[in-house]
Amino acid sequence: ATPMLAADRSARYLGVSCPLRQPDGILARHDLASAMNIKHRSQIYNVYVVVGLSSLLLIGSFYLFGMRPLIGYLRAMHTESIDLALQNSVGRVRAIFSNHEDLARQVASRRAIREQQAAFLRGEITREALVDFSQPKLADALDASDAMRAIVRHDPDGDRLFSVGVPVPNRLTDACEPETLERVRMLPNAPAERTDELVYCSPIFDEAQERIGFDLLIISDRAIQRFIDEQSRPAHTLALILGEREIRYWPNQTADEQAHAALRQFLTSGASDPRFVIHQQPLEFDAWSLVSIVDAEQFFAPIDRQTLILLVTILVATLVIYLLTVLALRPIVSTLAREEQLLVLARTDGLTGLYNHAYMQELLDAELERSARYQRPLMLVLFDIDHFKALNDEHGHQAGDQVLLQLANLCQSLTRDSDRLARYGGEEFLVILPESEREQGQRFAERLRHEIEQATFTFAATPLRITVSIGLAHWNGRGDPPTKAELVRAADRALYRSKEQGRNRVSLD
Ligand code: GH3
Ligand code: MG
Ligand code: MG
Repeated sequence: ATPMLAADRSARYLGVSCPLRQPDGILARHDLASAMNIKHRSQIYNVYVVVGLSSLLLIGSFYLFGMRPLIGYLRAMHTESIDLALQNSVGRVRAIFSNHEDLARQVASRRAIREQQAAFLRGEITREALVDFSQPKLADALDASDAMRAIVRHDPDGDRLFSVGVPVPNRLTDACEPETLERVRMLPNAPAERTDELVYCSPIFDEAQERIGFDLLIISDRAIQRFIDEQSRPAHTLALILGEREIRYWPNQTADEQAHAALRQFLTSGASDPRFVIHQQPLEFDAWSLVSIVDAEQFFAPIDRQTLILLVTILVATLVIYLLTVLALRPIVSTLAREEQLLVLARTDGLTGLYNHAYMQELLDAELERSARYQRPLMLVLFDIDHFKALNDEHGHQAGDQVLLQLANLCQSLTRDSDRLARYGGEEFLVILPESEREQGQRFAERLRHEIEQATFTFAATPLRITVSIGLAHWNGRGDPPTKAELVRAADRALYRSKEQGRNRVSLD
């Protein structure tokens, strides 16, 4: 297994997960700094991601819970307006038809002519006398109306008595069904010779409500056609349907072939072209219905345009919020990261990547306090390289540096995570072993000494061997705890004894 590098542990302490390599001659401080930069970049990246996701959440919820229902609502309202307009048109077409009926009723109810007809039926006057009396009067009525084109008067059996106006074919008389005629009726399925005319049948009653004949009236459909023309606009066509599928009235000017085809398809199959919104409403007269054909794209265009504007606005606004937030947060994150970097570097030894002397003082305080509070044992291990000056003198300072670095890594691999390891001085190291009983600590120290003695360090392919002298100070966790100074002094004394007694050995104070 590759031994764990001192800088690796610092990196882990920093929360940096990237593996660190420590090539010969490169200082641990450099590795640490680049690890910090990587962490820094990932923090900035996190800011981008978090702000970006928040923005997406904002847009998403705005669209899903705000805009989409609103668009649906607007479209429904807009579609409803087609029905309202159609409803209105139905009322107005109905008014035109009932206007025709009024005309027919007025003609049939003219008192003087009615009485003459009754007298004729009783045989009191001749047919010629009736016609002479009645014909000019109905001719006047015809002249007085723009819409009426012909009136044909019949006796109760359906025989023609006389007529005024344009010629009227005989077959229309049969279509009136005089036996059952109770009120004014339009003949929807029996158009006059000219297709611009409507045919009405109107019964004539005497004082005793006896049917004494009926009129056949031919009335111009100009008013209807004009209404259909007026109400139809580009992209919005109004049509009057006769029966199931006969398109009887269609606007003259706005001849939209596609709308016409869509309506024909709608009437024959009930399915409508998706490009058109088709609504149909019956008139009172069962045979007729009014249909509006709306070009969906043009009809919804204002809503769609507004929707697009709103969506783009929200997108742009969110983008601006995103950029501003990132711009505002970036320097804050940078400053925090920089501060953390400075703090870590201030605690780290530049050559070995171990904790430095200053930070070790803080750690010593903390560990001692913890031991004292919980009455737990603690071992201090102080060691110093033997005759290091000689090694420097013989191989140079760079060789000495390499030995220090490799020694730091070796020690790191021998200690646990909970142990605290620091470069305490030039070639002096200090380890705190929390929770360590005396024998345990001594075994660790002996093993450390042995491993270092066995290890071969290298500089420029030159193998280098060293030994260390170790001094131990222990507190068993009972009674009054020693002060930091007392404990370090004790370790120092023990180290001095190891040196005195020949070096490469472990002493306990
Ligand atoms: P001993 O401890 O066994 O009594 O002998 P020593 O030679 O190790 O002791 P001394 O205190 O006389 O010398 C310590 C030497 O350690 C002096 C210095 O050259 C060397 N030293 C201290 N820090 C560094 C360092 O960072 N790099 C290098 N290359 N050498 C260092
Ligand atoms: Mg020394
Ligand atoms: Mg020394």
